Amino acid sequence: MSLDDALAQLLERVQPLTATDNVSTFDALGRVLAAEVRSLLDVPPADNTSMDGYAMRAADVPAEGTVLPVAQRIPAGVVGEPLQPGTAARIFTGAQIPAWADAVVMQEQCVAQPGEGLGAVRIDTVPAAGQWIRRRGEDVRHDSVVLAAGTRLTPAALGLAASVGAATLAVARRPRVALFSTGDELVMPGEPLRPGAIYNSNRYTLRALLQSIGCEVSDLGIVPDRLDATRAALREAAAGHDLILTSGGVSVGEEDHIRPAVEAEGRLTLWQMAIKPGKPLAFGEVRRPGGSSHAWFMGLPGNPVSSWVTFLLLVRPVLLRLQGAAELAPRAYVLRADFDWPRADKRREFLRVRLNERGGLDLFANQSSGVLTSAHWGDGLVDNPGGQTIRAGDLVRYLPVRELL
Ligand code: AMP
Ligand code: MG
Repeated sequence: MSLDDALAQLLERVQPLTATDNVSTFDALGRVLAAEVRSLLDVPPADNTSMDGYAMRAADVPAEGTVLPVAQRIPAGVVGEPLQPGTAARIFTGAQIPAWADAVVMQEQCVAQPGEGLGAVRIDTVPAAGQWIRRRGEDVRHDSVVLAAGTRLTPAALGLAASVGAATLAVARRPRVALFSTGDELVMPGEPLRPGAIYNSNRYTLRALLQSIGCEVSDLGIVPDRLDATRAALREAAAGHDLILTSGGVSVGEEDHIRPAVEAEGRLTLWQMAIKPGKPLAFGEVRRPGGSSHAWFMGLPGNPVSSWVTFLLLVRPVLLRLQGAAELAPRAYVLRADFDWPRADKRREFLRVRLNERGGLDLFANQSSGVLTSAHWGDGLVDNPGGQTIRAGDLVRYLPVRELL
């Protein structure tokens, strides 16, 4: 099956969770908006100055060197009096422009003239009407939608919501995900590495990936390569979770128990996808106690780069879909390959690459699916069609990964 067909089927079956949370805008980073944010005000709410200087009517300054009396002083946060013709107002960045003023001259182009009261100012430039004034509503217009439902909240999005006065936001409930690794060879960091064993890295990578897209993760640890243990872990996980995610054991080897376990506890589709790395992906459902509902199941291959790539390409969109996100897949860019890839695979390949300072892409030398260093070193993937060789200078499709997380 092609990756696109697999993804289309997944997204057709998995529908957004209906529950929402009302959270403080402070705590909404990474969450997906369940309702649009509409502004009930103009931002900025009034014309204001973008410079420290003097506000005036441009018509009152026909020539350089004009001197005007300073009639008032307006710091930020203070509303001044209407500006009388033939006067200037001392004004500071962010302060509201007084009525009847139509220009600001920055203080570097003015010379204060001591005298009675606030004295006078000599203006050494001829102002253009409107200069250095930030217009009411130039950022956000009253009654406009500043953030659409389905937006994933970035730091800038949080600031934007706050700028229109939103103290709380309606966001999709966090997906609850149960995570376990399979493999009798796995040992946890902190334990001695016995002969034949390797450290469990997927548990760390997948847990962090899940957290980075807003999931509540229940980490169920390592499940032994036995059918009964795998079935028990699935049953336990189904109850309180929206999705069960596993790594390893999805091939068709004798020690791969994921497939029969999911079949016994629910329903399974095993996809041999035409991609490299990450050929096998299991998808299905596990019945909850009572049998009236189920948790989704996704089983990733055990090779660390395979599980990382299949997570990004298939699990991430599903979890964003559960949260009702509008954008499920990363935007791809067409960039220049600064490497050769002479022995292309039949399958569509996702190569670990990194942007260089010349605007091209460098390739990590070892593209084996066991070499996790490549995933750390790279900042993205080249999405290369099956059978396609690459020569330095060719344009390729680049998927940014670092910016997704
Ligand atoms: P499997 O998919 O179970 O056949 O595993 C494929 C390869 O990935 C084997 O070399 C495993 O040792 C390795 N592997 C499986 N699970 C993990 C894990 N959690 N962390 C690191 N490597 C793993
Ligand atoms: Mg295994």
